[in-house]
Amino acid sequence: KAEKSGYGRIEFYIPDKQNHSYDELVLYNDMHEALERNQFEVYYQPIVDAKSKEIVSAEALIRWRHPKYGMIRPDIFIPIMEKTGFIVELGKFVLDEVLKQQKRWELFKFREVEVSINLSLLEIETGNFVENVIDRLKYHQANPELIKFEITEGLAMQDEERSSQHFIELRKLGVGIVLDDFGTGYTSFSYLKRFPATILKIDKILIDYIMTNEEDQRIVQSIIDLGHSLGMKIVVEGIETLEMADLIESYGCDYMQGFYFAKPLPVFEFQKLLR
Ligand code: C2E
Ligand code: CA
Ligand code: CA
Ligand code: CA
Repeated sequence: KAEKSGYGRIEFYIPDKQNHSYDELVLYNDMHEALERNQFEVYYQPIVDAKSKEIVSAEALIRWRHPKYGMIRPDIFIPIMEKTGFIVELGKFVLDEVLKQQKRWELFKFREVEVSINLSLLEIETGNFVENVIDRLKYHQANPELIKFEITEGLAMQDEERSSQHFIELRKLGVGIVLDDFGTGYTSFSYLKRFPATILKIDKILIDYIMTNEEDQRIVQSIIDLGHSLGMKIVVEGIETLEMADLIESYGCDYMQGFYFAKPLPVFEFQKLLR
């Protein structure tokens, strides 16, 4: 919940979590230094094959280790970064970190791990987004097939033409495109047909009551079938119990992600699961 509190400040309160309120101005001021001081850290949440339950990929999720506030979750600082434009710099940092990490895994003979990176609309709209990606892939001598970008359904629709164009270019390189949080926006069938996604990620909101709500069951089953018929793979996120995993596997989804399998983990912890 965000509340105005004099001088145009907005303080963010996290209900039911720690009793922190974050001062937007403080966070804004701290951002630039935070990058230089290595306070941002990429966490990795495993994504498993629905049948074998083996880890096939991971989602990169950013964390900020703030000297005063402790670990801040992205829901708090990403909106501020989107307003101030700093998200573009952070996005470049995340891409570089992930590409570096994949090289290390290759060097130390870990399994190949595809990694999904979240994008904000501003990153895509900033002039040289695609050029920067190509440049970084080259710099790290990376395999583009191991990188995917996630864009939420709502954001992708806001600037459909431009984002589609960029994603088509990235797909030509072998980079995957995930339509994230699917089921929360207002995508039409014609849009879904045109959008160059390789993967559709069904939002947790459609999963939360799936064990008891038959309508949700039918909706999720239908989305999985629809995605498949359009040539996409399906990830279901937010899986928290074995029962949910079993039910959703029976619907024929391809990949699963959620606390039942693992939370987002620091790279050291994530690596242990790869062994
Ligand atoms: P998202 O892309 O929808 O990421 C999934 C969020 O759900 C993550 O929250 C993850 O920790 C959480 N989650 C995963 N499995 C479960 C589960 O089983 N139960 C529950 N309750 N939650 C689960 P997180 O890490 O706090 O990230 C929040 C959002 O911040 C992300 O939502 C994404 O939109 C954004 N974000 C994170 N990292 C980045 C980044 O590097 N760049 C950009 N632009 N956005 C990012
Ligand atoms: Ca995501
Ligand atoms: Ca999501
Ligand atoms: Ca989300």
